[in-house]
Amino acid sequence: MAYADDNIFAKILRGEIPSSRVYENEHSLAFMDAMPQVPGHTLVIPKYPAENLLDVDPEYLASTIQVTQRIAAAIKVAFDAPGIMVAQLNGSAAGQTVFHLHFHIIPRHDGIEFKLHARDLEDPSVLEEHAQRIRAAL
Ligand code: AMP
Repeated sequence: MAYADDNIFAKILRGEIPSSRVYENEHSLAFMDAMPQVPGHTLVIPKYPAENLLDVDPEYLASTIQVTQRIAAAIKVAFDAPGIMVAQLNGSAAGQTVFHLHFHIIPRHDGIEFKLHARDLEDPSVLEEHAQRIRAAL
């Protein structure tokens, strides 16, 4: 399947729809997941038209995973999380729903389950407050 540049993350990259941005550089962007599985759930994407891990330019992938590491460390501090889950899905059979490569960063606490994938829209003001907490810990 060819990359479709009308996907929602392509629109976020172009600034056509709003997002709570946490960090960006030349090659990648981190922003809050709009339907977080737990508070602090953040996504990191390359600024490159790749559907998934298999078709991304390696230079953009390297930047995206480095940013994922940096944001994960900030989320650990900002949400006082003893655990950090990083997830990345390739293809609808694997559960991927948005076809622009992304890494999920999900803070985890003992005994606290996470919500189902892509279910409940969070209030944008809550997402912005969480983005601010992560930015402050960068
Ligand atoms: P996946 O199923 O791995 O493709 O994950 C897609 C993720 O994108 C889900 O966790 C959704 O909650 C999230 N998502 C969908 N639309 C938006 C949006 N407009 N802004 C931020 N996150 C979104």
